[in-house]
Amino acid sequence: MSSSYANTTVVTNSAGPSPVGPIPVSKLPDVGTTIFTTMSALAQTHGALNLSQGFPDFDGPPELLERVNYYLTHGFNQYPPMMGVAPLRQAIAQKVADLYALKCDPEKEITVTAGATEALFCAIASVVHSGDEVIVFDPAYDSYDPVIRLQGGVPVHIPLTEPSFCVDWQRVKEAITQRTRLIIINTPHNPTGSVWAEADIQQLRELVTDTNIYLIGDEVYEHMVFDQHAHTSLCRYDDLYARSFVISSFGKTYHVTGWKVGYCIAPELLSLEFRRIHQYVTFTVNTPVQYGLADFLQAHPEHHLQLADFYQAKRDLFCDLLAPSKFKVKSSTGTYFQLLDYSEITDEPDHSLAKRWTEELGIASIPISVFYQNPQNCTHKALRFCFAKDDETLQRAAEILCKL
Ligand code: PMP
Ligand code: GLN
Repeated sequence: MSSSYANTTVVTNSAGPSPVGPIPVSKLPDVGTTIFTTMSALAQTHGALNLSQGFPDFDGPPELLERVNYYLTHGFNQYPPMMGVAPLRQAIAQKVADLYALKCDPEKEITVTAGATEALFCAIASVVHSGDEVIVFDPAYDSYDPVIRLQGGVPVHIPLTEPSFCVDWQRVKEAITQRTRLIIINTPHNPTGSVWAEADIQQLRELVTDTNIYLIGDEVYEHMVFDQHAHTSLCRYDDLYARSFVISSFGKTYHVTGWKVGYCIAPELLSLEFRRIHQYVTFTVNTPVQYGLADFLQAHPEHHLQLADFYQAKRDLFCDLLAPSKFKVKSSTGTYFQLLDYSEITDEPDHSLAKRWTEELGIASIPISVFYQNPQNCTHKALRFCFAKDDETLQRAAEILCKL
């Protein structure tokens, strides 16, 4: 027997003695387990090479691990300040000054978060009110849409133009209304590996100047831009930064995705609102990792400066190894993901193919149609492979793929 109250279904078990509690009416009834969790679990079950979920199969720099261990074993284990420890915020401020010529105040404009995921949540929650529209580009990273809807916002999905996955600015212009409150930008782009050009920034500027539209720059792959392209960080442009939350992740940059530490840089008044929410989502982020990262950032800026070369070499190795295969390979321009077009091998839908190849061939990847609001807009027959792997893993992966 069940009866409905506001947002709760109360179930009473008239048949037997076992107690039954209320069942929540979901705010996200259409959402299942993420594709990353699903594919990694499937890879594990079948002992498959896991090139699906984006994480390296090698460890972070030994000196970074040593620094974190030092703080862990020397009494740095109580709550740090809500916005993050001062040395880490100062090191981030120095980095963005050096790379993007942004002078930001680490006291007022930088907040350390539990990964980019938390930063995205807090940034979206900071500005999106009920009924506000948010523009996202498909294929879109999976957390944007549900978080927008949790705030009562309306995601407006605009497909990127294939095959280069660039923004169709005319469509963006047509999509902007009085209710548009936010545009979420992700460059370098997961899952396609495309990166924005200066011309995109100019187009964006023309659309948002004199509006009250905010921007989120999801820049977690900021240090992985290849072939001499430059990263168009929103930190570089004073007028755009004035309306932006710029988000990055130490997990990506230091090969430590499991640490879940990231940050958000935003002008003072935006950061104020961001921190109002952050303090009640996680309050703060673990102390020893923050101090360890601060030391490493200061001592080894060459780590992030050389990251593009490091990953470009891996991308090139993977693409070269696949040259004799039937895949159509257009090298990615950024991130540590490579799309492989399988249209000459099969016309099977990407979702079932990714699953089948994990089970039958022992290699796991990510279908990209799942990142579209309307999967029909995904006309590309491609799977995403993560090349943040040891060269030997990439060789074993290529051997399997070249047999197809
Ligand atoms: N944004 C994008 C585009 C990502 O690929 C990821 C996954 N790393 C995140 C955000 C989340 O990053 P984090 O693991 O630091 O929460
Ligand atoms: N960002 C990672 C990817 O794209 C996954 C992160 C996660 O599992 N939530 O593969």
